[in-house]
Amino acid sequence: MIAAGFDYAAPDSVDEAIRLLVEGGEDAKLLAGGHSLIPLMKVRLAAPTLLVDLRRVPGLRGVSSEDSELRIGAMTAHAELADAKAGLLATAAGQIADQQVRNRGTIGGSLAHADPASDLPAVVLAAEGRVALKGAGGEREVAAADLFEDYLTTAVRADEVITEVRVPKLPGYGFGYEKFARRSEDWAMVGVCALVKATDGTCEDVRVGLTHMGSTPLRAGAVEEALRGQPLDAGRIGEAAEQAAEGTSPPGDLNATPEYKQHLARVLCRRALGAAAGV
Ligand SMILES: Cc1cc2nc3c(=O)[nH]c(=O)nc-3n(C[C@H](O)[C@H](O)[C@H](O)COP(=O)(O)OP(=O)(O)OC[C@H]3O[C@@H](n4cnc5c(N)ncnc54)[C@H](O)[C@@H]3O)c2cc1C
Repeated sequence: MIAAGFDYAAPDSVDEAIRLLVEGGEDAKLLAGGHSLIPLMKVRLAAPTLLVDLRRVPGLRGVSSEDSELRIGAMTAHAELADAKAGLLATAAGQIADQQVRNRGTIGGSLAHADPASDLPAVVLAAEGRVALKGAGGEREVAAADLFEDYLTTAVRADEVITEVRVPKLPGYGFGYEKFARRSEDWAMVGVCALVKATDGTCEDVRVGLTHMGSTPLRAGAVEEALRGQPLDAGRIGEAAEQAAEGTSPPGDLNATPEYKQHLARVLCRRALGAAAGV
C-alpha cells in the first residue's frame, strides 16, 4: 500500500506543466485532486516517475457563464461545482462520494481518468460538452463524444492538459439524475442522467447518459430515438425507458450481475426522464 518512488513538481503555469510532461515522457503524470491517481499508485497499478501537480497553476478553477455555455476550469472541485448554478452538472457533482472526496476531486481529473463508474463523464457526454486541451502541439477542443475511447482511456495525449470543460447551457431543458449505490457515498452501480426539452407537451429533444453500463460512459440512443417527437406522458416515458439497456454490456462485479445492472438502467431511466419531463 505504499507507492513506488517518484519525483514531484508544482509548476505555476500550464506551459510549464506541459514542458515537464514532455520532459518526463510517458512516465510523467498530472496530479489534480489525487483521488483516483494516488489510490492506483498505492496499489502499484500506476507507477509514474514524475508527478506534475496542477494545484498552483492559476486560472484553472471556477465556473463561469459565457453566452451559450458554462465554462468550468479543469481544477474545479466537485464541491464547488455542486454549489454552482450548473443544473444537471451541479446535481451530479453533489452526489459524488462524500464531502471529503468532493472537496479534493476535480472535473478535469474525473474526465481524464475516464472511469465509466464516475458520475460526471456521462453527464458531460449527454450534455454534448467539450474539453479544451493544451499541449506541446498547441490548443484544441475535443467533444465528449470523441473523448472516451475505452476503459480508463481517453483521447487526451500524454503531453496535454485539460484546461476547461465547456458545456452548453441548454435553456428550456428539464433534467433528472438517478444514481443507484449500495450506500449513499458509493460509486454508482448504475447511474442515468436525462435532459428533456418539451414544446406543448411533446418531446422536442432528449438526451440520456448512462454511467457504469460499459467500458465507457454511454448515450442511450434507443431511448432518445423512441421519445423524440412523442407526447411526454408516463406511458411513453415508460416504453422508451424499457430500451435503456439496448446495446450495453455492463461489467458484472461484487455488487451486481450484468442483467441486474440492465434492469437498474431501465428503472433509473424511467425515473430520470420523469423528473426531467416533470411527469
Ligand atoms: C473513496 C472514493 C470514492 C469516490 N467515489 C466517486 C463517486 O461516487 N463518483 C465519482 O464520479 N467519482 C468518485 N471518486 C473519484 C473522484 O471523483 C476523483 O476525484 C476523480 O475521479 C479524479 O479526479 P482527481 O482530481 O482526484 O484526479 P487525479 O486522481 O489527480 O487524476 C486522475 C487522472 O487524471 C489525470 N488528470 C488530472 N487532471 C488532469 C487535467 N487537467 N488534464 C489532463 N489529465 C488530468 C491524472 O494524470 C490522472 O491520470 C471517488 C474517489 C474516492 C477516493
